[in-house]
Amino acid sequence: MPHPLAQARLTERRGASSGPRRISVLGSTGSIGVNTLDVVRHSAEPAEVVALTGMGNVELLASQAREFKAEIAVTADPARYSDLKEALSGSGVDVAAGPRALEEAASLPADWVMAGIVGIAGLAPTLAAARTGATIALANKECLVCAGEYFLAECSRSGAQIIPVDSEHNAIFQVFESRHHDAIERIILTASGGPFRTWTLEEMAGVTPQSAADHPNWSMGLKISIDSASMFNKALEMIEAQHLFDLPPEAIEVIVHPQSVVHSMVGYADGSVLAQLGSPDMRTAIGYAFAWPHRAHVPVDRLDFAELARLDFEPPDENRFPALRLAREAMTTGGTAGAILNGAKEAALDAFIEGRCGFLDIADIVESTLQTRSNASDANSMEAIIEADRIARTYATEWINRPGKVASA
Ligand code: NAD
Ligand code: MG
Repeated sequence: MPHPLAQARLTERRGASSGPRRISVLGSTGSIGVNTLDVVRHSAEPAEVVALTGMGNVELLASQAREFKAEIAVTADPARYSDLKEALSGSGVDVAAGPRALEEAASLPADWVMAGIVGIAGLAPTLAAARTGATIALANKECLVCAGEYFLAECSRSGAQIIPVDSEHNAIFQVFESRHHDAIERIILTASGGPFRTWTLEEMAGVTPQSAADHPNWSMGLKISIDSASMFNKALEMIEAQHLFDLPPEAIEVIVHPQSVVHSMVGYADGSVLAQLGSPDMRTAIGYAFAWPHRAHVPVDRLDFAELARLDFEPPDENRFPALRLAREAMTTGGTAGAILNGAKEAALDAFIEGRCGFLDIADIVESTLQTRSNASDANSMEAIIEADRIARTYATEWINRPGKVASA
Protein backbone atom coordinates (compact mmCIF):
# COMPACT_ATOMS: atom_id res chain seq x y z
CA MET A 1 0.00 0.00 0.00
CA PRO A 2 1.38 3.45 -0.80
CA HIS A 3 2.51 5.61 2.12
CA PRO A 4 -0.07 8.40 2.77
CA LEU A 5 2.66 11.02 2.52
CA ALA A 6 3.87 9.69 -0.82
CA GLN A 7 0.29 9.84 -2.07
CA ALA A 8 0.15 13.47 -1.02
CA ARG A 9 3.19 14.08 -3.19
CA LEU A 10 1.79 12.40 -6.25
CA THR A 11 -1.88 13.18 -6.45
CA GLU A 12 -3.75 16.38 -7.05
CA ARG A 13 -5.89 18.00 -4.41
CA ARG A 14 -9.38 16.64 -4.03
CA GLY A 15 -12.43 18.85 -4.43
CA ALA A 16 -10.42 21.40 -6.43
CA SER A 17 -12.71 21.34 -9.42
CA SER A 18 -16.06 20.72 -7.76
CA GLY A 19 -17.08 23.91 -5.94
CA PRO A 20 -15.93 25.11 -2.51
CA ARG A 21 -14.00 22.58 -0.48
CA ARG A 22 -15.80 21.19 2.54
CA ILE A 23 -13.63 21.48 5.63
CA SER A 24 -13.84 20.48 9.30
CA VAL A 25 -11.71 21.69 12.18
CA LEU A 26 -11.32 19.28 15.09
CA GLY A 27 -10.25 21.29 18.14
CA SER A 28 -11.33 24.60 16.60
CA THR A 29 -11.22 26.43 19.95
CA GLY A 30 -7.55 25.66 20.60
CA SER A 31 -4.43 27.44 19.44
CA ILE A 32 -4.19 25.43 16.20
CA GLY A 33 -7.95 25.66 15.65
CA VAL A 34 -8.11 29.44 16.07
CA ASN A 35 -5.14 29.88 13.73
CA THR A 36 -6.74 27.53 11.20
CA LEU A 37 -9.96 29.54 11.12
CA ASP A 38 -7.88 32.70 10.76
CA VAL A 39 -6.18 31.20 7.68
CA VAL A 40 -9.59 30.22 6.27
CA ARG A 41 -10.95 33.71 7.04
CA HIS A 42 -8.13 35.36 5.06
CA SER A 43 -8.03 32.80 2.27
CA ALA A 44 -9.10 33.83 -1.22
CA GLU A 45 -10.54 30.36 -1.66
CA PRO A 46 -14.08 29.88 -0.35
CA ALA A 47 -14.68 26.93 1.96
CA GLU A 48 -17.79 25.35 3.41
CA VAL A 49 -17.36 24.52 7.07
CA VAL A 50 -18.83 21.16 8.04
CA ALA A 51 -17.90 20.48 11.65
CA LEU A 52 -16.23 22.53 14.38
CA THR A 53 -15.39 20.87 17.68
CA GLY A 54 -14.20 21.94 21.11
CA MET A 55 -14.43 21.06 24.75
CA GLY A 56 -14.99 23.59 27.57
CA ASN A 57 -15.02 26.93 25.75
CA VAL A 58 -18.51 26.66 24.24
CA GLU A 59 -18.86 30.44 23.91
CA LEU A 60 -15.93 30.55 21.46
CA LEU A 61 -17.15 27.40 19.70
CA ALA A 62 -20.60 28.94 19.23
CA SER A 63 -19.24 32.20 17.88
CA GLN A 64 -16.99 30.32 15.43
CA ALA A 65 -19.91 28.18 14.30
CA ARG A 66 -22.04 31.28 13.69
CA GLU A 67 -19.29 33.14 11.84
CA PHE A 68 -18.40 30.22 9.55
CA LYS A 69 -21.98 28.93 9.24
CA ALA A 70 -20.87 25.46 10.31
CA GLU A 71 -23.22 22.55 9.72
CA ILE A 72 -22.54 21.16 13.20
CA ALA A 73 -20.75 22.22 16.40
CA VAL A 74 -19.73 19.55 18.88
CA THR A 75 -18.38 19.82 22.40
CA ALA A 76 -16.57 16.73 23.64
CA ASP A 77 -17.94 17.46 27.12
CA PRO A 78 -21.54 16.14 27.49
CA ALA A 79 -22.06 18.46 30.49
CA ARG A 80 -21.73 21.49 28.17
CA TYR A 81 -24.41 20.36 25.70
CA SER A 82 -27.18 22.65 26.95
CA ASP A 83 -24.84 25.68 27.10
CA LEU A 84 -23.79 25.11 23.52
CA LYS A 85 -27.37 24.47 22.42
CA GLU A 86 -28.47 27.73 24.01
CA ALA A 87 -25.55 29.69 22.57
CA LEU A 88 -26.47 28.47 19.08
CA SER A 89 -30.25 28.73 19.31
CA GLY A 90 -31.77 30.16 16.15
CA SER A 91 -28.48 29.85 14.25
CA GLY A 92 -29.38 26.78 12.20
CA VAL A 93 -26.18 25.05 13.38
CA ASP A 94 -26.70 21.47 14.59
CA VAL A 95 -25.40 20.82 18.09
CA ALA A 96 -24.06 17.63 19.65
CA ALA A 97 -21.92 16.58 22.62
CA GLY A 98 -19.75 13.74 23.85
CA PRO A 99 -16.93 11.63 22.43
CA ARG A 100 -19.23 9.50 20.25
CA ALA A 101 -20.82 12.60 18.67
CA LEU A 102 -17.33 13.99 18.12
CA GLU A 103 -16.32 10.91 16.14
CA GLU A 104 -19.54 11.04 14.13
CA ALA A 105 -18.95 14.70 13.26
CA ALA A 106 -15.38 13.86 12.27
CA SER A 107 -16.70 11.23 9.87
CA LEU A 108 -19.03 13.59 8.03
CA PRO A 109 -17.98 13.92 4.38
CA ALA A 110 -15.32 16.62 4.05
CA ASP A 111 -12.44 17.29 1.66
CA TRP A 112 -9.99 18.65 4.26
CA VAL A 113 -9.91 18.11 8.01
CA MET A 114 -7.65 19.89 10.49
CA ALA A 115 -6.68 17.49 13.31
CA GLY A 116 -6.12 20.04 16.10
CA ILE A 117 -7.26 18.22 19.25
CA VAL A 118 -4.55 17.91 21.90
CA GLY A 119 -3.31 14.56 23.21
CA ILE A 120 -4.44 10.99 22.61
CA ALA A 121 -8.01 12.32 22.83
CA GLY A 122 -7.45 13.37 19.22
CA LEU A 123 -6.73 9.84 18.00
CA ALA A 124 -10.26 8.41 17.62
CA PRO A 125 -11.79 11.48 15.92
CA THR A 126 -8.79 11.91 13.60
CA LEU A 127 -8.95 8.22 12.69
CA ALA A 128 -12.67 8.62 11.98
CA ALA A 129 -11.89 11.50 9.60
CA ALA A 130 -9.02 9.57 7.99
CA ARG A 131 -11.29 6.60 7.33
CA THR A 132 -13.49 8.79 5.11
CA GLY A 133 -10.51 9.41 2.80
CA ALA A 134 -10.40 13.16 3.56
CA THR A 135 -7.10 15.05 3.37
CA ILE A 136 -5.85 15.27 6.96
CA ALA A 137 -3.95 18.38 7.99
CA LEU A 138 -2.20 16.72 10.92
CA ALA A 139 -1.32 18.95 13.88
CA ASN A 140 -2.12 16.32 16.51
CA LYS A 141 1.18 14.47 16.85
CA GLU A 142 -0.15 11.86 19.26
CA CYS A 143 -1.92 10.01 16.39
CA LEU A 144 1.47 9.02 15.03
CA VAL A 145 3.30 8.77 18.36
CA CYS A 146 0.76 6.34 19.81
CA ALA A 147 -0.60 4.61 16.75
CA GLY A 148 1.83 5.35 13.90
CA GLU A 149 1.68 2.13 11.91
CA TYR A 150 -2.02 1.58 12.49
CA PHE A 151 -2.96 5.17 11.69
CA LEU A 152 -0.91 5.20 8.47
CA ALA A 153 -2.36 1.84 7.41
CA GLU A 154 -5.89 3.18 7.90
CA CYS A 155 -4.99 6.26 5.82
CA SER A 156 -3.57 4.08 3.06
CA ARG A 157 -6.69 1.91 3.09
CA SER A 158 -9.04 4.88 2.69
CA GLY A 159 -6.76 6.92 0.45
CA ALA A 160 -6.54 9.74 3.02
CA GLN A 161 -3.62 12.06 2.40
CA ILE A 162 -1.65 13.50 5.31
CA ILE A 163 -0.22 17.00 5.17
CA PRO A 164 1.93 17.53 8.30
CA VAL A 165 1.17 20.73 10.21
CA ASP A 166 3.59 20.40 13.12
CA SER A 167 6.02 23.12 12.01
CA GLU A 168 9.08 20.85 11.93
CA HIS A 169 7.34 18.12 9.95
CA ASN A 170 5.70 20.65 7.69
CA ALA A 171 9.17 22.10 7.02
CA ILE A 172 10.59 18.67 6.24
CA PHE A 173 7.61 17.86 4.02
CA GLN A 174 8.31 21.02 2.05
CA VAL A 175 11.94 20.04 1.30
CA PHE A 176 11.61 16.23 1.34
CA GLU A 177 12.26 14.79 -2.10
CA SER A 178 10.22 11.57 -1.91
CA ARG A 179 11.55 10.47 -5.28
CA HIS A 180 15.03 10.50 -3.72
CA HIS A 181 14.07 8.76 -0.48
CA ASP A 182 17.11 6.45 -0.75
CA ALA A 183 19.40 9.50 -0.93
CA ILE A 184 18.04 10.99 2.31
CA GLU A 185 20.64 10.46 5.02
CA ARG A 186 19.01 12.29 7.89
CA ILE A 187 16.42 14.76 8.98
CA ILE A 188 17.32 17.41 11.49
CA LEU A 189 14.54 18.62 13.75
CA THR A 190 15.16 22.05 15.20
CA ALA A 191 14.18 22.79 18.81
CA SER A 192 14.01 26.20 20.43
CA GLY A 193 15.28 24.75 23.72
CA GLY A 194 12.30 26.31 25.50
CA PRO A 195 12.40 28.75 28.41
CA PHE A 196 14.90 26.65 30.43
CA ARG A 197 17.48 26.13 27.69
CA THR A 198 20.29 27.59 29.79
CA TRP A 199 18.99 26.65 33.25
CA THR A 200 20.75 24.22 35.60
CA LEU A 201 18.98 21.09 36.86
CA GLU A 202 18.79 22.72 40.31
CA GLU A 203 17.02 25.74 38.85
CA MET A 204 14.67 23.56 36.80
CA ALA A 205 13.66 21.52 39.86
CA GLY A 206 11.61 24.41 41.19
CA VAL A 207 9.79 25.67 38.11
CA THR A 208 6.05 26.26 38.12
CA PRO A 209 3.53 25.39 35.37
CA GLN A 210 3.21 29.13 34.66
CA SER A 211 6.92 29.63 33.99
CA ALA A 212 7.12 26.37 32.01
CA ALA A 213 4.24 27.50 29.79
CA ASP A 214 6.00 30.74 28.88
CA HIS A 215 7.53 29.79 25.51
CA PRO A 216 10.18 32.22 24.22
CA ASN A 217 9.10 32.17 20.52
CA TRP A 218 5.83 30.32 19.85
CA SER A 219 2.34 31.04 21.15
CA MET A 220 0.74 27.61 21.67
CA GLY A 221 -1.65 25.69 23.89
CA LEU A 222 -0.72 25.10 27.56
CA LYS A 223 0.26 21.43 27.28
CA ILE A 224 2.49 21.68 24.20
CA SER A 225 4.16 24.75 25.71
CA ILE A 226 5.09 22.83 28.87
CA ASP A 227 6.14 19.86 26.71
CA SER A 228 8.44 22.24 24.85
CA ALA A 229 10.02 23.32 28.14
CA SER A 230 10.78 19.69 29.10
CA MET A 231 11.66 18.85 25.47
CA PHE A 232 9.03 16.09 25.54
CA ASN A 233 7.47 17.94 22.63
CA LYS A 234 10.67 17.25 20.65
CA ALA A 235 10.64 13.66 21.88
CA LEU A 236 7.12 13.20 20.50
CA GLU A 237 8.21 14.89 17.27
CA MET A 238 11.10 12.44 16.81
CA ILE A 239 8.65 9.52 16.97
CA GLU A 240 6.20 11.42 14.76
CA ALA A 241 8.97 11.92 12.17
CA GLN A 242 10.02 8.28 12.29
CA HIS A 243 6.54 7.21 11.18
CA LEU A 244 5.79 10.09 8.84
CA PHE A 245 9.02 9.92 6.85
CA ASP A 246 9.69 6.20 7.23
CA LEU A 247 13.26 6.59 8.51
CA PRO A 248 15.31 4.60 11.08
CA PRO A 249 15.82 6.20 14.52
CA GLU A 250 19.49 6.96 13.82
CA ALA A 251 18.50 9.13 10.83
CA ILE A 252 16.53 11.50 13.07
CA GLU A 253 18.62 14.23 14.71
CA VAL A 254 17.74 17.16 16.94
CA ILE A 255 19.58 20.49 17.07
CA VAL A 256 18.77 23.37 19.39
CA HIS A 257 18.13 26.58 17.46
CA PRO A 258 16.98 29.31 19.85
CA GLN A 259 15.59 31.71 17.19
CA SER A 260 12.99 29.19 15.81
CA VAL A 261 13.48 30.48 12.25
CA VAL A 262 14.87 27.34 10.61
CA HIS A 263 11.90 25.04 11.12
CA SER A 264 13.80 21.82 10.22
CA MET A 265 16.12 20.33 7.59
CA VAL A 266 16.73 17.33 5.38
CA GLY A 267 20.28 16.08 4.66
CA TYR A 268 21.00 14.29 1.36
CA ALA A 269 23.69 11.83 0.21
CA ASP A 270 25.48 14.54 -1.81
CA GLY A 271 26.00 16.64 1.34
CA SER A 272 23.20 19.10 0.53
CA VAL A 273 21.00 20.19 3.40
CA LEU A 274 17.62 21.68 2.50
CA ALA A 275 15.84 23.79 5.09
CA GLN A 276 12.53 25.65 5.36
CA LEU A 277 12.62 29.00 7.16
CA GLY A 278 9.92 31.38 8.31
CA SER A 279 8.65 33.43 11.22
CA PRO A 280 7.56 31.35 14.21
CA ASP A 281 3.87 31.56 13.33
CA MET A 282 1.79 28.41 12.87
CA ARG A 283 -0.31 30.07 10.19
CA THR A 284 2.48 29.43 7.65
CA ALA A 285 2.34 25.66 8.18
CA ILE A 286 -1.46 25.71 8.40
CA GLY A 287 -1.71 27.92 5.30
CA TYR A 288 0.65 25.60 3.42
CA ALA A 289 -1.50 22.60 4.38
CA PHE A 290 -4.67 24.45 3.39
CA ALA A 291 -3.35 25.60 -0.01
CA TRP A 292 -1.46 22.39 -0.85
CA PRO A 293 -0.49 21.50 -3.57
CA HIS A 294 -0.56 25.22 -4.41
CA ARG A 295 0.78 28.13 -2.37
CA ALA A 296 -1.35 31.03 -1.21
CA HIS A 297 -0.91 34.35 0.57
CA VAL A 298 -0.75 34.06 4.37
CA PRO A 299 -0.62 37.30 6.41
CA VAL A 300 2.35 36.45 8.66
CA ASP A 301 5.45 38.56 9.41
CA ARG A 302 8.10 38.26 6.71
CA LEU A 303 11.65 37.36 7.74
CA ASP A 304 14.02 40.30 7.79
CA PHE A 305 17.48 38.72 7.60
CA ALA A 306 19.33 41.98 8.26
CA GLU A 307 17.38 42.42 11.47
CA LEU A 308 17.78 38.75 12.34
CA ALA A 309 21.58 39.04 11.77
CA ARG A 310 22.41 35.56 13.07
CA LEU A 311 21.11 32.03 13.46
CA ASP A 312 22.50 29.97 16.36
CA PHE A 313 22.71 26.20 16.74
CA GLU A 314 23.85 24.05 19.66
CA PRO A 315 23.60 20.36 20.57
CA PRO A 316 20.83 19.41 23.00
CA ASP A 317 21.88 18.50 26.55
CA GLU A 318 20.35 15.09 27.18
CA ASN A 319 21.44 15.16 30.81
CA ARG A 320 19.16 18.13 31.52
CA PHE A 321 16.58 17.04 28.91
CA PRO A 322 16.36 13.22 29.08
CA ALA A 323 13.19 13.24 26.96
CA LEU A 324 15.24 12.93 23.76
CA ARG A 325 17.05 9.82 25.00
CA LEU A 326 13.72 8.29 26.05
CA ALA A 327 12.26 8.97 22.60
CA ARG A 328 15.16 7.14 20.98
CA GLU A 329 14.56 4.17 23.30
CA ALA A 330 10.88 4.13 22.36
CA MET A 331 11.69 4.40 18.64
CA THR A 332 14.10 1.46 18.87
CA THR A 333 11.63 -0.66 20.85
CA GLY A 334 8.78 0.21 18.47
CA GLY A 335 5.28 -1.28 18.76
CA THR A 336 3.30 0.21 21.61
CA ALA A 337 6.38 1.91 23.19
CA GLY A 338 5.28 5.25 21.71
CA ALA A 339 1.83 4.91 23.31
CA ILE A 340 3.47 3.97 26.63
CA LEU A 341 5.82 6.98 26.51
CA ASN A 342 2.96 9.31 25.61
CA GLY A 343 0.50 7.86 28.18
CA ALA A 344 3.03 8.25 31.00
CA LYS A 345 3.93 11.74 29.78
CA GLU A 346 0.28 12.86 29.61
CA ALA A 347 -0.38 11.55 33.15
CA ALA A 348 2.78 13.23 34.46
CA LEU A 349 2.01 16.48 32.66
CA ASP A 350 -1.51 16.60 34.15
CA ALA A 351 0.00 15.94 37.59
CA PHE A 352 2.56 18.73 37.10
CA ILE A 353 -0.13 21.20 35.98
CA GLU A 354 -2.20 20.26 39.06
CA GLY A 355 0.81 20.63 41.40
CA ARG A 356 1.02 16.90 42.20
CA CYS A 357 4.58 16.44 40.96
CA GLY A 358 7.60 18.53 40.04
CA PHE A 359 8.89 19.50 36.61
CA LEU A 360 11.85 17.11 36.65
CA ASP A 361 9.63 14.28 37.84
CA ILE A 362 7.98 14.21 34.39
CA ALA A 363 11.03 12.59 32.78
CA ASP A 364 11.61 10.28 35.79
CA ILE A 365 7.99 9.09 35.56
CA VAL A 366 8.25 8.42 31.82
CA GLU A 367 11.59 6.65 32.17
CA SER A 368 10.36 4.47 35.02
CA THR A 369 7.17 3.62 33.10
CA LEU A 370 9.11 2.71 29.96
CA GLN A 371 11.49 0.51 31.98
CA THR A 372 8.77 -1.23 33.96
CA ARG A 373 6.03 -1.39 31.38
CA SER A 374 7.96 -1.60 28.16
CA ASN A 375 6.76 -5.11 27.29
CA ALA A 376 5.73 -3.29 24.14
CA SER A 377 3.49 -5.34 21.90
CA ASP A 378 2.55 -4.77 18.28
CA ALA A 379 0.58 -1.57 17.87
CA ASN A 380 -1.61 -2.98 15.13
CA SER A 381 -5.05 -2.47 16.65
CA MET A 382 -6.86 0.27 18.55
CA GLU A 383 -7.34 -2.18 21.44
CA ALA A 384 -3.56 -2.69 21.80
CA ILE A 385 -2.92 1.06 21.69
CA ILE A 386 -5.65 1.94 24.19
CA GLU A 387 -4.46 -0.82 26.53
CA ALA A 388 -0.84 0.42 26.36
CA ASP A 389 -2.03 3.96 27.11
CA ARG A 390 -4.12 2.70 30.06
CA ILE A 391 -1.29 0.63 31.54
CA ALA A 392 1.15 3.54 31.22
CA ARG A 393 -1.25 5.97 32.91
CA THR A 394 -1.96 3.52 35.73
CA TYR A 395 1.74 2.97 36.40
CA ALA A 396 2.55 6.68 36.17
CA THR A 397 -0.29 7.53 38.56
CA GLU A 398 0.96 4.93 41.05
CA TRP A 399 4.44 6.49 40.80
CA ILE A 400 3.02 9.95 41.47
CA ASN A 401 0.91 8.73 44.42
CA ARG A 402 3.52 6.42 45.93
CA PRO A 403 3.94 6.69 49.71
CA GLY A 404 6.75 8.92 50.85
CA LYS A 405 6.84 10.75 47.51
CA VAL A 406 7.65 14.39 48.03
CA ALA A 407 6.95 16.55 45.03
CA SER A 408 10.06 18.47 44.05
CA ALA A 409 8.04 21.65 43.35
P1 NAD B 1 -4.97 23.61 22.72
O1 NAD B 1 -4.95 23.08 24.10
O2 NAD B 1 -4.79 25.06 22.49
O3 NAD B 1 -6.33 23.17 21.98
C1 NAD B 1 -6.77 21.84 22.04
C2 NAD B 1 -8.13 21.68 21.38
O4 NAD B 1 -8.57 20.34 21.65
C3 NAD B 1 -9.22 22.61 21.91
O5 NAD B 1 -10.15 22.89 20.90
C4 NAD B 1 -9.89 21.75 23.00
O6 NAD B 1 -11.23 22.12 23.22
C5 NAD B 1 -9.81 20.39 22.36
N1 NAD B 1 -9.79 19.32 23.37
C6 NAD B 1 -9.07 19.29 24.52
N2 NAD B 1 -9.30 18.13 25.18
C7 NAD B 1 -10.17 17.43 24.42
C8 NAD B 1 -10.81 16.16 24.57
N3 NAD B 1 -10.57 15.37 25.64
N4 NAD B 1 -11.65 15.74 23.61
C9 NAD B 1 -11.90 16.52 22.53
N5 NAD B 1 -11.35 17.73 22.33
C10 NAD B 1 -10.48 18.17 23.27
O7 NAD B 1 -3.86 22.76 21.91
P2 NAD B 1 -3.01 23.22 20.65
O8 NAD B 1 -1.79 23.91 21.12
O9 NAD B 1 -3.89 23.85 19.65
O10 NAD B 1 -2.50 21.81 20.09
C11 NAD B 1 -3.34 20.93 19.40
C12 NAD B 1 -2.50 19.79 18.83
O11 NAD B 1 -1.63 20.33 17.84
C13 NAD B 1 -1.60 19.09 19.86
O12 NAD B 1 -1.50 17.73 19.55
C14 NAD B 1 -0.26 19.78 19.66
O13 NAD B 1 0.82 18.95 20.00
C15 NAD B 1 -0.28 20.04 18.16
N6 NAD B 1 0.55 21.19 17.76
C16 NAD B 1 0.25 22.43 18.22
C17 NAD B 1 1.03 23.51 17.84
C18 NAD B 1 0.71 24.90 18.31
O14 NAD B 1 1.34 25.85 17.85
N7 NAD B 1 -0.25 25.11 19.17
C19 NAD B 1 2.14 23.31 17.02
C20 NAD B 1 2.41 22.02 16.57
C21 NAD B 1 1.60 20.97 16.94
MG1 MG C 1 6.52 21.29 16.48
